[in-house]
Amino acid sequence: MNRNLARAAVVLMSAFALSGSGLAIQPGLLSAAGSSSEGCFDPVAAGAAARGTTNARANDHRDITAAEIARIEKQTKAILAAKAKGQARPAPSGGGTDPAGAAFNHIPVYVHQMLSASGAGRVTQAQIDAQIAELNQDYAGADQNGHTGTANGDQPAKANTGAQFYLAGVDEYLNNSWHTDRQSTTYRSQTRKGGPKSLNIWLVDFSYLGIATFPWDYARNPGIDGIRVQYSSLPGGSATNFNLGKTATHEAGHWLGLYHTFQGGCTSTNDEVADTPAQSSATSGCPEGRNSCSLPGLDPIHNYMDYSYDPCYDEFTAGQSSRISSMWAAYRS
Ligand SMILES: [Zn+2]
Repeated sequence: MNRNLARAAVVLMSAFALSGSGLAIQPGLLSAAGSSSEGCFDPVAAGAAARGTTNARANDHRDITAAEIARIEKQTKAILAAKAKGQARPAPSGGGTDPAGAAFNHIPVYVHQMLSASGAGRVTQAQIDAQIAELNQDYAGADQNGHTGTANGDQPAKANTGAQFYLAGVDEYLNNSWHTDRQSTTYRSQTRKGGPKSLNIWLVDFSYLGIATFPWDYARNPGIDGIRVQYSSLPGGSATNFNLGKTATHEAGHWLGLYHTFQGGCTSTNDEVADTPAQSSATSGCPEGRNSCSLPGLDPIHNYMDYSYDPCYDEFTAGQSSRISSMWAAYRS
């Protein structure tokens, strides 16, 4: 299965009420999110180029099994142990070169506007600036109301991850196929900028809110590293309930090495982060107090790695913060 394709999660598709989009759910792919029996979902083959009135985050990264997660955990520990001993490892190769000064607290962001041939899908510079500001606010542990810590009822407290972003460049392309995320391997390879430390954001018009690659995949496939984001999800965009720019925050979370909070369902390893509440499935909407794994005192719906509406999203946990620092050290520095 082409790794650029995302899996179907019909639970989410229906929950997000895709309507009139031409998004055909293929028979045989219907299963709960997180199930290993899920099939792959090809948004192009499914006729998803015409997006509906509501976009879905769907399953927005390549298929990954519990066995592979275990392998990645082991590999990451080995890499970090080697680095701690001062054993030099070759830097990821094959990609471009990062701007001078690129670092975890100074992450270059390249925004690629993939427009239609007639220029549809363009966002304003003000929206791009607001998106960068949103990333910085969210990764610093504040929400749109200036709340930090356990304000707004967050359990556990919002963490300042230390990740900081700056706009390194904006470009645009006029191509109907690229605009609708067709030929994505080609367009990403041809337009990507920077090296492993650079976050590339391709703004497209598809039936997803976003799709991301993982940091451990950079070394073998640097040309497609980054996140694809529905252009109308940027701050001030037209994606109802999803237009505060938090889709990019969520997708950047994957790019930095985080899984969904519902990865693995109600298992002990779950998303490999101890302080995020386990969830049996993705959250839809903003159901305060949802507790799908019967774990007292935890309120998972505010976490950026769930699928809640943008206004409900307001935290990464300390455990997630620690994980992305480790993943940066292992795979992007
Ligand atoms: Zn996701």
